[in-house]
Amino acid sequence: MNTSLNQPLNIVILGGGTAGWMAANLMVKRWGSRANIRLVESPDVGIIGVGEGSTPSLRRFFQLIDVEEHQWMPRCQATYKLNISFKYWSPVSGIEAYSHPFPTQVDSFTKRAFMVNTRTRRMGLKTHTLPQDFLLNGLLANEYCGPKAPANFPFKLEYGYHFNSGLLGEFLSELAQQRGVAYQQAHVTSVEQHPNGELAALVTDSSEKIAGDLFVDCTGFAALLMQKTLGVQFNSYKENLFNDSAVVAPTPMLSAEQGDIPVETTSTALSNGWCWKIPLTERFGNGYVYASDFISADQAETEFRQHLGLLDSDQAVNHLKMKVGSLSQHWSHNCIALGLSQGFIEPLEATALHLVQVSIELFMQQFEAGGFSAQNRAQFNQQMAERFAGVRDYIVAHYKLNTRDDSEYWRANRANMALSDSLKQLLHVWYSKEDLSEEIARQNISTHFDDVSWHCLLAGYGAFPDLHPNQPGKGDLYQEQGVQAFLSGCRLNFKSHRENLEALSL
Ligand SMILES: Cc1cc2nc3c(=O)[nH]c(=O)nc-3n(C[C@H](O)[C@H](O)[C@H](O)COP(=O)(O)OP(=O)(O)OC[C@H]3O[C@@H](n4cnc5c(N)ncnc54)[C@H](O)[C@@H]3O)c2cc1C
Repeated sequence: MNTSLNQPLNIVILGGGTAGWMAANLMVKRWGSRANIRLVESPDVGIIGVGEGSTPSLRRFFQLIDVEEHQWMPRCQATYKLNISFKYWSPVSGIEAYSHPFPTQVDSFTKRAFMVNTRTRRMGLKTHTLPQDFLLNGLLANEYCGPKAPANFPFKLEYGYHFNSGLLGEFLSELAQQRGVAYQQAHVTSVEQHPNGELAALVTDSSEKIAGDLFVDCTGFAALLMQKTLGVQFNSYKENLFNDSAVVAPTPMLSAEQGDIPVETTSTALSNGWCWKIPLTERFGNGYVYASDFISADQAETEFRQHLGLLDSDQAVNHLKMKVGSLSQHWSHNCIALGLSQGFIEPLEATALHLVQVSIELFMQQFEAGGFSAQNRAQFNQQMAERFAGVRDYIVAHYKLNTRDDSEYWRANRANMALSDSLKQLLHVWYSKEDLSEEIARQNISTHFDDVSWHCLLAGYGAFPDLHPNQPGKGDLYQEQGVQAFLSGCRLNFKSHRENLEALSL
């Protein structure tokens, strides 16, 4: 068996969902003729077919594989994404809605005012603390602006995308095959192993054997290679993330006369979970993510239909189950897991494909450094465990900080004390009025969500004490530093989202 790139490495990717095709593209681009890559996909098991929002890392993905936006976005009904808007996670007046804009370069001028204001507010003094009013992407999203600025605008803007996941899969599949990835449709029924446990070959339902040096498990929640064959343990996050189900349905996109295309994902809290609304060029994708311990599938569907105005419609909806948690190892023997097979943290911040990409990039670095060495494997597993824990904690914090009182679900989330030590410490620092940025740096966790994102979350949920009876009437940097005027000036450089999308087809 070949264990390095000194001779062509035979890589077998099992699964042709977004994870499988992302891996195929990144590997064939970076390793070229140093690897023979084959992707095997069952004709009988479909892809999950959801997952339509990204973080800014998807931009880096397309840069790494040399694909321009005009080549993929129109084909995948893609739109730009600057922000996530959280609605009704709190019933408190003034913070019924808040935003988590993707942090961007211009924020360096305004983020200090935001952080100082949140700290002043933690002291009981009245200041402006709504995240979207301090961060350029929040303002642009509010005004339906796209992220494309003229060349003389001196700052780089961060943004992600929304896209049709089925079309993205087709695009990535075609591209990978053009670049030399072999594609085979076959249903795998068993796996042969070497005496030392390493995987030797996949065995298909027509008894064909597909041998390889490195296997990549992209079989979705089935986790055929890592869990079922190698017996790697799956650690559930059920005790701190209750949601395990979703019901999804599309709704029509607005025409140009009806309005502009949002440049953000909306996450609206419902009675026992939350509903996403993702704008694509041709439609909206919607999904109610809920906890089946608190509401039945039928009740959730009724509430979802009501929310979308589909109560009297016979439009079909799709019910999904989610396995929330992560593997105890993401690389075991000569196999790595990517995508839903390696774990899933519910889609509140659309982090799944981000984690797929990070996993592939870190794996390729480790493998180039030392092949299948135990040390590289251990380092990779450690890095992935930290990434998953970091993302999980940020998502858990949304639920912990909610202030809704309309169902047992929201109260149980707020009362939940199954928090990691890291998250407990972050909350302690915040409530003790200490420096949260310093704590994030000390814990070295800003690769997941940086200090701006944490301040958005805590300020967005209004995690503040009551106001002090005596107010000095000064010290609000939003006013004193003219943040609004500065951002409004920046905004003049941006066109509407629709204009940015139309420019891709010129
Ligand atoms: C409700 C929900 C919402 C989501 N929203 C987002 C989001 O907004 N943003 C985001 O980044 N992610 C999101 N995700 C996650 C995202 O959908 C997945 O990470 C992504 O689609 C990758 O899936 P996958 O490729 O791992 O698995 P799948 O798409 O399930 O693909 C599995 C593949 O394995 C193959 N396979 C399985 N068994 C066999 C077998 N025995 N033999 C051969 N082949 C086999 C299947 O044929 C298929 O090709 C969401 C997920 C859910 C559940």
